[in-house]
Amino acid sequence: MRKRLITLIIAVVLAAILITGGAGFVQLSRVNQAAEKQYLAAAAISLARDINNGIPYAKAFADVVDSFAKNPDVIGSEHMSDTEPEFVERILRATIISETGEVLYDSEGNTAGLDNHANREEVRLALKNKQSAVSIRKSQTLNQKLMYYALYNREQDNIIRISSPLASLSSNLVSFASVIFVTMILAAILLIMIALTNLRNITKPLHQLEEAALALRQGDYSTRIPDVHLDTSDLRELSLAFNEMAYAWQDSHRKQEENAAHLSAILNSIQDLIIVVDEYDWVLSLNQRALTAFGRSLQPSESSCPLILLTQDTRVEDLAARARLEGKSIKTQMTLRMPYGSRRFRLVASPVQTDPARGIIVLSFTDITDSYQAEEMRSEFVANVTHELRSPLTSIRGFIETLRSKQDLELETVQHFINIIDVEAERLEYLINDILFLSAIENDATDRHITDFDLSELIDEVVVLFDDYAHDNKVYLLPELDDSVLNVRADRDRIKQILINLIDNAIKYNEEGGKVWITVRDATESEQYAAEADEAEISYSDADRCAIPRLRMIVLTVRDTGLGIPADQLERLFERFYRVERSRSRELGGTGLGLSIVKHIARLYQGYATVESTLGEGSTFRVFLRIGI
Ligand code: ADP
Repeated sequence: MRKRLITLIIAVVLAAILITGGAGFVQLSRVNQAAEKQYLAAAAISLARDINNGIPYAKAFADVVDSFAKNPDVIGSEHMSDTEPEFVERILRATIISETGEVLYDSEGNTAGLDNHANREEVRLALKNKQSAVSIRKSQTLNQKLMYYALYNREQDNIIRISSPLASLSSNLVSFASVIFVTMILAAILLIMIALTNLRNITKPLHQLEEAALALRQGDYSTRIPDVHLDTSDLRELSLAFNEMAYAWQDSHRKQEENAAHLSAILNSIQDLIIVVDEYDWVLSLNQRALTAFGRSLQPSESSCPLILLTQDTRVEDLAARARLEGKSIKTQMTLRMPYGSRRFRLVASPVQTDPARGIIVLSFTDITDSYQAEEMRSEFVANVTHELRSPLTSIRGFIETLRSKQDLELETVQHFINIIDVEAERLEYLINDILFLSAIENDATDRHITDFDLSELIDEVVVLFDDYAHDNKVYLLPELDDSVLNVRADRDRIKQILINLIDNAIKYNEEGGKVWITVRDATESEQYAAEADEAEISYSDADRCAIPRLRMIVLTVRDTGLGIPADQLERLFERFYRVERSRSRELGGTGLGLSIVKHIARLYQGYATVESTLGEGSTFRVFLRIGI
C-alpha cells in the first residue's frame, strides 16, 4: 500500500512537472519565434526604408547591422551580448528578390550563382499576398534551420528577405529552458519529499486498520483502532464501524465462551462418561471423566477424532448408528477394554432431534463394573455355597436313609454311621459359621468391638489352642516372640481368627515333623506403600476413615515347612472356596473360606495378605494390619 502510494506520488509529481515543463517549453519556443520574427521584421523594414531612400543595398544592410549591433536589447539574448557588427552580420542575411524571383542582392555575396527564389515559400507568399510572410526551414547552404522573413516592398515591387538561423536564437531558449528544467527537478524533489514526509500521517489510519484487522483475525477480539475520536481522515467512519464490529465480535465470543464453560461445567459434573459424536461418528465433545477414562493419549478437545479411536470397540459405533437410524434412545450394557482394564458399562445412545444438530448422538456410559462384579460374585457364591452344602447334606441323608432302612445293623456299624453324620454336620456348621463370618466382615466396613490388647499374648493363646492338634499331626509350633508387650488396637476376636485360620492351615497342609514359625514385626515403608495402593482400590467411605485411627502397620507371619502351593495357583488362593487340592482340603475339614476370611479382615484394618510358597518346601503367609499403637 505504502509502496504503491510512493510510486503514485512520484509518478504524479514527475508527470505534472514534465507536462508543465513541456507546455512551458513549447510556449517559450513560440514566444522565441515570435521575437525572432519581430526582430527580422524590424531589420527588413529598416532595410526597406534605406533602400527606398536610395541607399545602395550593401550600405543599407551594413546600416541595419550597425543599428542592431548598437542595440542588443532588440535581440534580448545573453548570447547576443556579443554584438559586434561582424557577429550580427554573420547571423543576419539579407536578400533582395525581384518580383520575378531574381536575386538582386544577397548579403552573403555573389548573386550570380543563386537560382530563382520565386518558389521559396516566404517569397512566393509575400509576392502572392503582397505583404510579409515567414517560413522556417532548413537551409541547404548552411545546413541548419533558418527563419526567413520576406517583406513585400511596395515602392520598388520587390521582396526584402531577412533570415537568421533559428539556433542563434534557440540558444537563448535552451539556456532559458535549462533554468526551467533545473527548477522543475528541484521542485519535483521538493514536492516528493513533502509528499513522503506526509505520507506516514496520511496512511496511518490505514495502517491501524490493517493491524487491527490482522489482530482480530488472530483471535484478539479486544483489539480496537485507537483515538478514533481524534481521527479526522476520511477513514474515520470506517474506523468507527470497525471498532463496533470488533466490539460485537468480542461480545459474541465472550457469550460463546460462557456457554461453552457452562456446558463443560455441566458435562464435567455428570458422573457418567459423556461423549457427543457428529453424524460421521467423530467426537464433537466429551467430559473430563470420559477423557480420563478412555485416555488413549488422544486430545479430542483440541482436535476431533473418530469415536472408534477413543473406544476401540465397533459396538459403540453400531449403537450410535442404530440410535440415529431409529431416532430414539437405545440402552444396552457392554464390557469395554479400557486402558486400565476391562470395565462394564450401561450405555445410552440418545439422538439429538432438533434440526441443525440432527445426526448428533449423545453417548452416556455409566460404570456398573462394581455392581456387575458384585452380582456375578453373588451368583457364583450362591452356586458355590449350594454346592458346598449339598455334599455334607447328601452324605448325612444317605447315612440316615441307610440307618432307617436297615434295622438289623450291628451296633458298631450304627455307631460308625452316626460318627460320620456327626462329622458332616460339624462340617456343615463350620461352613455356615464361615459364611456368616465372611458376610459379617463384608457387610461391616469397620470393626465395632475395638479393644487394646497384647498381640504376643494372643499369639500364645492361639498356639496353646492348637497344641493338641499340632501334637496329633506331629507338627511343631514355634512362636518367635520376645518378652515385650506388643500393644495393638483392634477387634481381638477377628485378629484371633486370622491366627487360627493361618496356623490351622499350616498344620493341616504339613507333614510329620514339620515346623510352623509365627512372628510379628513392624511393616517396612515399601510394605506400607503397597497397603496404601491397595487401600485406594478398596475405597472406604469418609465416615469409615474417621472411624479408623492412623495406627502403626504390623506384619503377622506364619511360615511352615509344609506341602507348599504350586506357583500358578498362588494368585487365586485368597478367593472364596478356592482350594488347591479339593479332596484333601475337604478330607481335612476345610471349607475353602479360611484365607478369604483372612484377606477380608486384613482389609478391615487397611491391610492386605500375601503368600510366598515353594512346592514341597513350605509356605509363608504374611498379613499386614494397621493395628499397632
Ligand atoms: P481350606 O478351608 O480349604 O483350608 P483356605 O481358604 O484356608 O481353605 O485355604 C485355601 C487352600 O489353600 C487350601 O485348600 C489349601 O489347598 C491351600 N493352603 C492354605 N494354606 C496352606 C499352607 N499353609 N500350605 C499349603 N497349602 C495351603
